[in-house]
Amino acid sequence: MVIVLKNDVSESEKKNIKSLLKAKNFKINEVKGDESTILAAVGRLAMDIREVEVLPGVAKVVPISKPYKLASREFKPENTIVEIPNNRGQIIRVGGSRLVSIAGPCAVESRQQMFDAAAAVSASGAVMLRGGAFKPRTSPYSFQGLGEEGLKYLKEAGEKFGLPVVTEIVDAGYIPVMENYGIDVYQVGARNMQNFELLKRLGKLGKPVILKRGLCATIQEWLMSAEYLLSSGTDKVILCERGIRTYETATRNTLDLSAIPVLRSLTHLPVIVDPSHALGVRDKIPPMALAAVAAGADGIIVEVHCHPETALSDAAQALYPEQFDKIMRDMESLAPVIGKEIAHIRAEEKPELNESQNALQSSAKKALCAFSGKKGAYAEQAVFNYFDDAAEPVEADSFDDIFQQVVDGKVQYGMIPIENSTAGSVYNNYDNLTRYEDISIIGAVTIRVEQRLLAPKGATLQTIRHVYSHPQGLAQCSNFIRSHGYSTVDTVSTATGAELVSKKNDISCAAIASARNAEIYGLELLDQKIENNPNNYTRFVIIAANHTKNGARSIREQKPNRATLMFSTKNEAGALYDTLGVFKQARLSMNRLESRPIAGKPWKYWFYSDVVIPSDVKNPEKYINDFINVLKSNAQDIRLLGVYYE
Ligand code: PEP
Ligand code: MN
Repeated sequence: MVIVLKNDVSESEKKNIKSLLKAKNFKINEVKGDESTILAAVGRLAMDIREVEVLPGVAKVVPISKPYKLASREFKPENTIVEIPNNRGQIIRVGGSRLVSIAGPCAVESRQQMFDAAAAVSASGAVMLRGGAFKPRTSPYSFQGLGEEGLKYLKEAGEKFGLPVVTEIVDAGYIPVMENYGIDVYQVGARNMQNFELLKRLGKLGKPVILKRGLCATIQEWLMSAEYLLSSGTDKVILCERGIRTYETATRNTLDLSAIPVLRSLTHLPVIVDPSHALGVRDKIPPMALAAVAAGADGIIVEVHCHPETALSDAAQALYPEQFDKIMRDMESLAPVIGKEIAHIRAEEKPELNESQNALQSSAKKALCAFSGKKGAYAEQAVFNYFDDAAEPVEADSFDDIFQQVVDGKVQYGMIPIENSTAGSVYNNYDNLTRYEDISIIGAVTIRVEQRLLAPKGATLQTIRHVYSHPQGLAQCSNFIRSHGYSTVDTVSTATGAELVSKKNDISCAAIASARNAEIYGLELLDQKIENNPNNYTRFVIIAANHTKNGARSIREQKPNRATLMFSTKNEAGALYDTLGVFKQARLSMNRLESRPIAGKPWKYWFYSDVVIPSDVKNPEKYINDFINVLKSNAQDIRLLGVYYE
């Protein structure tokens, strides 16, 4: 702190000031100017500055360091991500690149009401369920909440939909009963923000806490309350702006969105926004929910009720489920603009399998690996090549569908084409690797694309007039097709072409597809080696969800020798050059460096890199993690997609 002394300060007053500061472990420097003299006191500010202000000879005291430490950015420069697991083996992260939505009624009123609300909000994409069981009401005559019974209904509803539950704690005495019902997140309400005894007890408990801003609290007071939680032993603190009291009466409170960028610079803690209690009227809430996200909030918490007219508390601000659904859809469109994604809850652990998946699961008890296309596709071949007998291929409609099935736990693995030696990168899948952040690459396989001409029995090269295949298959064999004067018909996949030709059973029609399609569709192999370029390879990566029971681990025993990672660089001259230097120092040879635009951030790029891990490295995972720690000084947003054997 800086102590400005009065012009007429006496030597004995000065001595007195200095000795008090020394007793508090400050180092002191005296600076004499023409106009005034100041004392610069350096040390941890663990005292009330007013003790110095009242000393004789002191004109003014200016604190430099902040009174909160653990909550400050200086103490921890990187953002804190609070992890909240659900009952589907998934982890909801508040403070990362995903926006979270917490929704549910103000108060738990009945079992049915909670189940209806949970069904509605989870269908729209909420990732946590809220509901108060102990309500701090302004009037003692208002509904006070169902108490313990409310906790039970809240948790039951949350469990059914895979939603961790958030509820307010009004007194530390309720900790045991709330623990009993497995409350996932403890909300400290605005009225209790400065209940320091409660904060200390909650800090010791170590469960995630949502700390709401007090009705009249400054940002500094709010952070001091967070400091109580942090200094009591927890690091799982989420700040929640819910509006403050101002002279304005048109809204219930005034939502202080400016607090978000201010907090971002002052603290590493995640920040969410509750527009419901700020606005107080349902129709005014949606725009402010979006504004909060646009201003940089990590998520929102809103009140939703299936029958707001009958709500026992905060009825006027309860959103109809349709209004919440609209907020979620708007947030989905807004997210890429600010470089974020929406957090999702995955489908239940035991999803309802369709008949063929069911049959596969029960007959073989094998892992399932989704691939895009139909039986006979090259991707299916890749599944056989990589897994041998260890996984059953499952058809998927699209690449996106594979990613979704893996995230939802419907299949354990996905086979994803990433690059073709002649056609180049499959960009859609590079983008999918950023969109689905809970995915890891656990292996890779390259297969040779060998096209064959397949036709019904009796057909010869001379009887054929038309060839059916995917446009890529047709392009790869264009010389052969031209030399025979065949016409071409596009199909959605090479296997679909084979199926069509088989159905037609016409000796003037042939398909270009892999040899396996001859077996599957009862066709004859009419010709081979028909590609323009025989060096036609496709590289696939195998993906798995990070939250599968054993984690996304390779099925291969061999020591990993490859890693795939993504990063972005600072916007300055030589940033990529410097970053690549770190790869060189770590002796990581790059097999591939691909750049893709970052959604919502024009002219900013992700770099994807496949690297070869030197064979003398004993522990490849550790080696890559150490490398990433060094890389952090040059690159940004680094994500390790996998360390695997290829
Ligand atoms: C609530 O979330 O139901 C609530 C009472 O909020 P606040 O503490 O912000 O008023
Ligand atoms: Mn409320």
